[in-house]
Amino acid sequence: MKKVKEYMNTNVLTKIVIALAVLLTLVALFLVITHRAPVSRDVVDSDTCKSVVVVTSGDTLSGILSKQGLSNNQINEIVKTLKAQAGITGLRADRDKIEFVRAADSAPVNKIVVIPSPWRQVELTCDKAGSWQCNTIDIERDTRAVYKSGVILDGDSFYLAGMRAGIPAGILADVYDLLAFEMDFERDVRAGQKFSVLYEENFSSGSKVDNGNVLAVSFDALRGNVKMYRFKKKDGTTGYYDEKGNGAIKSLKRTPINNAKVTSSFSTRRKHPVLGFTRAHKGVDFRAATGTPIPAAGAGRVVKKGYNSGHGNFVRIRHNGSFETLYAHMSKFKSGVNVGTAVKQGQTIGFVGSTGLSTGPHLHYEIIKDGHHVNPLTVKLPAINNLDDANKTKFLEYRKALDDGIEYLSEHPNMFIVL
Ligand SMILES: [Zn+2]
Repeated sequence: MKKVKEYMNTNVLTKIVIALAVLLTLVALFLVITHRAPVSRDVVDSDTCKSVVVVTSGDTLSGILSKQGLSNNQINEIVKTLKAQAGITGLRADRDKIEFVRAADSAPVNKIVVIPSPWRQVELTCDKAGSWQCNTIDIERDTRAVYKSGVILDGDSFYLAGMRAGIPAGILADVYDLLAFEMDFERDVRAGQKFSVLYEENFSSGSKVDNGNVLAVSFDALRGNVKMYRFKKKDGTTGYYDEKGNGAIKSLKRTPINNAKVTSSFSTRRKHPVLGFTRAHKGVDFRAATGTPIPAAGAGRVVKKGYNSGHGNFVRIRHNGSFETLYAHMSKFKSGVNVGTAVKQGQTIGFVGSTGLSTGPHLHYEIIKDGHHVNPLTVKLPAINNLDDANKTKFLEYRKALDDGIEYLSEHPNMFIVL
């Protein structure tokens, strides 16, 4: 990101983007030519005496090492070294790979490469004295900013429109997370609304490996255009900010569960679906399947956890300042979440259910401000992580450059910006 800030003015950017479009074509051709077969389990490369093990379910590090002929003493040393020097304590099935290198087919293993992510390799080499030296290598990545835009059609959801626009599911989930601070996906989504997202794609040696962060989002909501930008502050921390540089991340989320439809709104009078008579509805109901994780709407401390005949299983959280939130009708609580537990924003506290007075599985969500129930979808929520003056000035410069880049990419959808 630092580089972008330095060289991103419109002229330079235009040149970069055009140059990169040419490069992209070359890279695409190169990839077609050099397309490699995927690594499979226990592939032996006879020239270098290298074998690769892809970790599968049930594998343990010591089990894998033992199969390679390493002694128990060596295994203990390797396990300890990996833990102490590389922070590796376990293996993940279908993700981690381990390479074993020998001087000859029948020789003992003298080098082990653990690959816990596409961006990191941990090399263990056996020295002459027989002890294992550990060396961590970070794989260089090149990151590109890619732009996608779409429009909501009649009867569409934002999710469907986003998929149609070619936004990857993981990025779309992040966009939901961000917009949930500002939007009500039930009532704010209409045919004809436009949206766009600028996000990172990470490449290694010319091949795409994964997606990175969402850099900018724009959505034409009913209340006006919502824009959010990711920005790195001088102290190195990153956050999302609106066009003016105000913190876009609010202390609470209006819709804790992404993409959940509102089935009943906040009202001071409504006919209760179970009781049959008119009674205030002090929260918002979101439809979701039984077992759907319920994330805490904001950081805070659990002040109540229990059961009552109306709410069924419920959790109440006190947040910083004057806000509390309540989550009702849970099928079960998340283990480890108890009265007094400090929770982070987004941390699962329980699971959707239909306990208490409920006609079907849903989350009943309340926000209580200074002891009074307020409408979660409209209450003004305090922003967290606002910028100081120096950072705000930097942000506004950066935002302008990013907007210029976005404008260019919107007219040239197959191009990208190198970050
Ligand atoms: Zn309700």
